[in-house]
Amino acid sequence: MITTFDCTMGIERVFNFGAGPAVLPEPVLEEARRDLLSLPGVGMSVLEISHRSETFERIIQTAEADIRKLACIPDGYRVLFLSGGATQQFAMVPMNLLPAGGFADYVLTGAWSKKAFAEAKKFGAVRVAGTTERDEFARIPDSRELDLQPDAAYVHVTSNNTIYGTQWPTMLDTGDVPLVSDASSDFFSCPIDVARHGVIYAGAQKNLGPAGVTLVLARADLVRGAPDTLPTTMRYETASDHGSLYNTPPVFAVYLVGLVMKWLLGNGGLKEMARRNERKAQTLYAAIDRGDFYHGTANSQSRSRMNVTFRLPSEEHDTRFVQEAAAAGLVGLKGHRSVGGQRASIYNAFPEEGVDALVSFMAEFERMSG
Ligand code: PMP
Repeated sequence: MITTFDCTMGIERVFNFGAGPAVLPEPVLEEARRDLLSLPGVGMSVLEISHRSETFERIIQTAEADIRKLACIPDGYRVLFLSGGATQQFAMVPMNLLPAGGFADYVLTGAWSKKAFAEAKKFGAVRVAGTTERDEFARIPDSRELDLQPDAAYVHVTSNNTIYGTQWPTMLDTGDVPLVSDASSDFFSCPIDVARHGVIYAGAQKNLGPAGVTLVLARADLVRGAPDTLPTTMRYETASDHGSLYNTPPVFAVYLVGLVMKWLLGNGGLKEMARRNERKAQTLYAAIDRGDFYHGTANSQSRSRMNVTFRLPSEEHDTRFVQEAAAAGLVGLKGHRSVGGQRASIYNAFPEEGVDALVSFMAEFERMSG
């Protein structure tokens, strides 16, 4: 059994390749465990204090300040901590950004962008500006394939397609039209040019923290566009005007995001994450490409550095691979139910030793199956 081992407490941890909620940095989990009964100097758990207390205000404000520092967020952008997951943003984006009589462009690169598009349709006119569905979403379209309209209210993309293992190799240039990006599965995995976006949103449960909180970065002028009839909690303006404390926020999730941000800052920030993530992905893709036994499912130009998808020669091999890998402490490799095969999710907190362990296991499995 391959495990990482915490000697101090005798706790075994497997290598968790799950797509999300996903592996968190061990020092973050240890700090949360230590502080769960009592935050230092407070005498109560973060789960027990008012979200209006000075302590919590400090927690949320520090988390925001660290987020701003890490991603070099310009002053003209709001940082919002919302709930409802990225899925709720599929609705909140058009509710807030799509004016009556206007339209928005959507680029469809997978199941999540299709869901975002279907939801947006309920609120106004939306166009498919490009799709790679005919290629089973194995690739990201070239910008020349897209039909983007200069008068669209915004262009929506999914920066990393968690299910299909594809990622935009470069950011789409949308000119003056605000770019809205669902960055749920690659946010904070590398530096990002926030100023070229209108809105970026991400459920926290991959690179940012636990499930329960959604991070939204929004250009200040775009948070004011909602019609008066829109419910209070669905308006970006509400969260923006109340420091994300209009109602009780998911306090524990926000606290944990804060700890993850400190961990990122202490580990070289987003540039260093990009280097580590590139290294992990290169190692794994090299193992896939070494022979004919493993087959990467995403086109090489569109490969994700976060979710590495591949297949074995048959479904029977795939099933056995997942089982035997799990028995060896390599857990969560089964591909999404809609596509099958394998998916190794290697987010920021996933250790390089885990990738090395998987690569060794792959060589051994191939040898035993050959
Ligand atoms: N978008 C992407 C790219 C995702 O990977 C996911 C979840 N895996 C979602 C949206 C949906 O997120 P949530 O479950 O937080 O609503």
